[in-house]
Amino acid sequence: MKSKVSAATLDKLVALCKRRGFVYQSAEIYGGLNGVYDCGHLGTLLKKNIRTAWVQSMKEAASSMVQFEGSLLGPQSVWEASGHIANFQDPMVDCLECKHRYRADDIDLEKSCPHCGKKSWTDVRQFNMMFKTELGASVDNATSAYLRPETAQAIFINFKNIMSSNRIKIPFGVMQIGKAFRNEITPKQFLFRMREFEQMEMEWFCKPETAAKDFDFWMQKRLDFYKNFIGLTPDRVRLRAHEKDELSHYSKGTSDVEYNFPFGWKEIEGIANRGNFDLTQHSNFSGKDLAVFDEQEKASFMPHVVETSVGVDRLFLTVLFDAYDEEEVEGEQRVVLRFKPTIAPIKAAFFPLTKKQVEPMMALYEALKKKTGFEIEFDESGSIGKRYRRYDEVGTPLCFTFDFQSEEDGKVTVRFRDSMKQERIAFDAIEQFINDALQ
Ligand code: ATP
Repeated sequence: MKSKVSAATLDKLVALCKRRGFVYQSAEIYGGLNGVYDCGHLGTLLKKNIRTAWVQSMKEAASSMVQFEGSLLGPQSVWEASGHIANFQDPMVDCLECKHRYRADDIDLEKSCPHCGKKSWTDVRQFNMMFKTELGASVDNATSAYLRPETAQAIFINFKNIMSSNRIKIPFGVMQIGKAFRNEITPKQFLFRMREFEQMEMEWFCKPETAAKDFDFWMQKRLDFYKNFIGLTPDRVRLRAHEKDELSHYSKGTSDVEYNFPFGWKEIEGIANRGNFDLTQHSNFSGKDLAVFDEQEKASFMPHVVETSVGVDRLFLTVLFDAYDEEEVEGEQRVVLRFKPTIAPIKAAFFPLTKKQVEPMMALYEALKKKTGFEIEFDESGSIGKRYRRYDEVGTPLCFTFDFQSEEDGKVTVRFRDSMKQERIAFDAIEQFINDALQ
């Protein structure tokens, strides 16, 4: 049973991510770009599995659910209507001595600067976190546009298109996965707070009278997602309702899903009852009525929205923290990522014991890969023990070894990542073993 807090530290995960090709600092050879990261082979696979799990969980939770991909750039008018130009800001403060910059709500201004130990603060200023850019060839006739700081607004402004083209009725959900950009004052904790990141957001359009009940429904479904689809340790996950003074300008009620990181309980997802704020604002600012006609009531109403919003990268980091484990095996340290098999980037590894077994094991490997499309790897270098460690460290649930006996008895050895137990199984049982692990 796992303890309440992960055995991992941020430093260990950063090093593991780079060493094994999950995540690299962006533009590293030029000194790096703060708060921006690139994803390597294993990271790309892990992210893909997280996205797939999310889409699956949404489809299972509600039958009326459609997909959407909005643009990354939005005109100024959208962000004026959404309230982001006026409200999407964080308080910023600088140390006059060492010039270090902080989010003012991250530190105690009654105390001295954590960096240089002096106490000499500038005034607190509000800093808008959106990235602004100009459209058009010349700056003179350019139009201002913004990189989206959240994915949701593109869904709201397309609400009528989505409804009519999909021929759906309230209630229904619209899910979207895509990049968002925030000029965070202090990007930190690796993938936890980035400037370019990805969100998975779902907007649930409902009647005003069901919004409170639907909000409760989605909170439950989202907790189920973390437990059953992602496999996070249940007692490291909790829901926390926002206090009244914490609520965003649009929210009638918000609860965060929080995870118990080694640096404390932190938000991984926001679930909000947004009321009819967004559709009303966009109706008023665009002059296009986004109300819906209720055939039964013979009257129009402005749908309410319940939103669920989680960052792919922040969840990626959470999954790593949760899966990371260290243990001593025969006097040596074993690092193992205990991913849920459906989330694991590589499902199984295939080893020939010596050069002699390369050919027959390769044949089994190639045939299975072609037939199933499973993400599996073949590895012939180093001792079997070393190969096990290599695949434990990236969370591969199963390893199969072809040895001297295999040609005679038609069996390989399967070794389980978590228990390290081994058993001999027939060649034609390999596929079933992988399938069973993925259930
Ligand atoms: P925080 O208080 O941590 O800044 P927030 O309340 O501003 O987060 P939301 O606007 O609710 O975050 O965004 C929804 C989700 O998007 C967050 O729960 C998080 O998973 C993710 N997210 C937000 N900002 C970032 C960021 N800078 N880097 C990585 N993920 C982020």
